[in-house]
Amino acid sequence: MKRCTYCGKEYGDEADACQIDGEPLLSPEEAAAQKAQRSKRPSRQEVKTGLAVAMIGLVIGTLGAALPVYFAKGHVSGNVYVSLSTLLTGSTVFVSGLALAWLGPEVVRDRGRTIFWIGFFAGIALCILVFLKIFDLGYGYK
Ligand SMILES: [Zn+2]
Repeated sequence: MKRCTYCGKEYGDEADACQIDGEPLLSPEEAAAQKAQRSKRPSRQEVKTGLAVAMIGLVIGTLGAALPVYFAKGHVSGNVYVSLSTLLTGSTVFVSGLALAWLGPEVVRDRGRTIFWIGFFAGIALCILVFLKIFDLGYGYK
């Protein structure tokens, strides 16, 4: 016995498509396999890719945090916007990478916008923290 994937009407094993809406028919086993496929955990490869993306974000974020200190020590005036945007980009990439590793690409595609904003606001919080600390240490921008 097969069932329509769209309307759920049941057919015999010899039928291929639903007569009402033309959608494909699946046996109960096939339907279960498809459902499992859809909710599958991220594969090892996807976790690796996600962690690699997160590492890139971490490097970018670290650069953003280190730039003002570097400029201050070298007695060069730094550009605050370069550091800010580097930190923002870094944390957004970092959060996206972690989401890719934990949730898998399908969930990331579905909730991409949410994940982007989480990274963005995490970046803003990070920026505020880093700059408060830097001005505390007596560094800063001229
Ligand atoms: Zn149907």
